[in-house]
Amino acid sequence: MLNIVLFGPPGAGKGTQSERLIEKYNLVHLSTGDIFRANIKGETELGKLAKSYMNKGQLVPDSVTIDLLKSEVMKHSHPKGFIFDGFPRTNNQASALDVLLVSMNTSITKMISLDVDEEELKTRLLKRAEVSGRADDANPSIIENRIAVYQKETAPVKSFYADQNKFFSIDGMGSVDDITKRLFDSIDAN
Ligand code: ADP
Repeated sequence: MLNIVLFGPPGAGKGTQSERLIEKYNLVHLSTGDIFRANIKGETELGKLAKSYMNKGQLVPDSVTIDLLKSEVMKHSHPKGFIFDGFPRTNNQASALDVLLVSMNTSITKMISLDVDEEELKTRLLKRAEVSGRADDANPSIIENRIAVYQKETAPVKSFYADQNKFFSIDGMGSVDDITKRLFDSIDAN
């Protein structure tokens, strides 16, 4: 299996690039953010809970997120692999994902991080707010909070994969096509 963690701060372009990767490599796209948003839309209990964190720019608690991710992975019987987008966001989530994949006789192939300047992130998120209707994109102080949460809780996940020699980063600035090409090259290298 080819299992890629696509990593990066809010607004780095993980969702956009995931769409390109699943098409080329025939993978399953698992975005915890998208799953939470679908639950908010469907007004499920999970959606109500997730919304209370997401609208403040905080992380949904690990216990909830990990159970959700596990059940989503299990829905696929013989996948070629997964793109994990927006997960893992904490070291706890990364450990849980390793355990889950071991139980399936597989593992993470690579984590690829998209590097983007903070100013560019803010510009992209505010622009996305115009079309996405996402409350967490429209408010500059919530964006600041998401970036701060990323720095504090999520960025350390890089070391988790670096320790396993699985961490790679690419330049996430420039055109969508250029970034896709860098990702393909990174995945295809060895
Ligand atoms: P972005 O990368 O632009 O922040 P996402 O759609 O990945 O967008 O995430 C939106 C929100 O969903 C996060 O700010 C957080 O509240 C919640 N969320 C998504 N994935 C996770 C996760 N793995 N752990 C905890 N919370 C999550």
